[in-house]
Amino acid sequence: MNIITRFAPSPTGFLHIGGARTALLNWLFARANSGKMRLRIEDTDRRRSTPEAVEAIIEGLGWLGLSHDDEIIYQHECLERHKQIARRLLETGAAYKCTCTAQEIEAMRERARKAGKTPRYDGTCREKTPGDIPADAPFVIRFKTPAHGQTIIEDQVQGRTAIANDQLDDLILLRSNGTPTYMLSVVVDDHDMGVSHIIRGDDHFTNSARQKLIYEALGWDVPVFAHIPLIHGADGAKLSKRHGALGIDAYRAMGYLPEALRNYLVRLGWSHGDDEVISTAQMIEWFSLEAVGKAPARFDFAKLENLNGIYIRKMDDAELLEKFIHALPYLEAGPELLKQLTPDMKTRLLKAMKGLKSRAKTLNDLVTASRFIFAQRPLVIEAKAAKVLDDAARAHLAGLYRKLEKISEWTPETIETTIRAYTAGQELKFGKIAQPLRSALTGSSVSPGIFDVLYALGREETLARIQDQSQLS
Ligand code: GLU
Repeated sequence: MNIITRFAPSPTGFLHIGGARTALLNWLFARANSGKMRLRIEDTDRRRSTPEAVEAIIEGLGWLGLSHDDEIIYQHECLERHKQIARRLLETGAAYKCTCTAQEIEAMRERARKAGKTPRYDGTCREKTPGDIPADAPFVIRFKTPAHGQTIIEDQVQGRTAIANDQLDDLILLRSNGTPTYMLSVVVDDHDMGVSHIIRGDDHFTNSARQKLIYEALGWDVPVFAHIPLIHGADGAKLSKRHGALGIDAYRAMGYLPEALRNYLVRLGWSHGDDEVISTAQMIEWFSLEAVGKAPARFDFAKLENLNGIYIRKMDDAELLEKFIHALPYLEAGPELLKQLTPDMKTRLLKAMKGLKSRAKTLNDLVTASRFIFAQRPLVIEAKAAKVLDDAARAHLAGLYRKLEKISEWTPETIETTIRAYTAGQELKFGKIAQPLRSALTGSSVSPGIFDVLYALGREETLARIQDQSQLS
């Protein structure tokens, strides 16, 4: 069997974090089974589906590394085909014309409500013959849902589930203005795209039962269904704005690495033993739908941040620097930093990376931690940092300067030896020199390890910054 999955987002202005997780599972399933993942943009709502909204989805998927196969299908381009299939269903008697007016439908609903039943279409037009229908009356085309029996979904995540057919409405396939509905378009497109597996949120479960009936009425193969639980917030409610960011672009701006986010998203509801840090290659190797849980997963922002920190720390310095630089235009404080990024600064950043990444959880933390590298002389010294720069400290900075300038090879080791020799010679506690040095070199009271700071800045810049704050003339 050729495995073909699909991701079928409706453009809303961003790629939703839950949608990204659905895309990831479709992508993994396809990659794990040497299949394809196709992308269909469900853009039939022409007001919402702006080019920007479509672009946001494509860009979000690209950033997350979830490449689709074959050409993108734009659903609005397939409308004629959907209409043709609606007519076919009409001809075979699997669908019928319904001329009930909006008021009649409302009255029907009202009656059902009063009788304590689920409001739905009561089948008034179901048995009408063409002769019963006035030629000029506006009509919709409804699907003739079997009145009895049940529809069974052998769901790969939820297990075998039966839905009584009398719970399913005679749904509309074609509206009175001739436009197809979601229910029809999805079936036709999935069939035409050769989709073998439909993996999507469990809010679509009842839709799947309806769609299965449409496939059967058309004599088409029914795809395999897998309904994944939705993502909830920490309080157990469906993930919404009040829990945190929903758009993938916001996660990018917060400085998450796509590989870390992929890892976090796959762990939301899917597990492989106790493994937490799972590379993409391992995910592909281990992924199976059976291992996806049935219960909704809770989004834990702290956990995502920790995981991101782990990815940052284990990444090679040069690779991290490249990713960091590429991410700058999208980070909150990145564009400003990008303007100052000379080749010299890049060299300093690379030297500093080991120290910088040891404390960073996001790329934005790296931006903050690397500010000292970009700072212009004479440095602005923060109040807390200025406090330790008293006369004695300034005199020691001058003393240390004379030792540092003699270093022949500027390495973290020679720097450390020199500073320790100075403090020992002066019978000073290490902090008595490290703190003022930190103030002079970074303008702040927090920074990466002090030897790393000197190493990253290089001899010339280090000496110049010390000179600015010491009593050297
Ligand atoms: N476009 C639908 C959505 O965004 C998904 C359709 C489907 O998966 O069948 O929810």
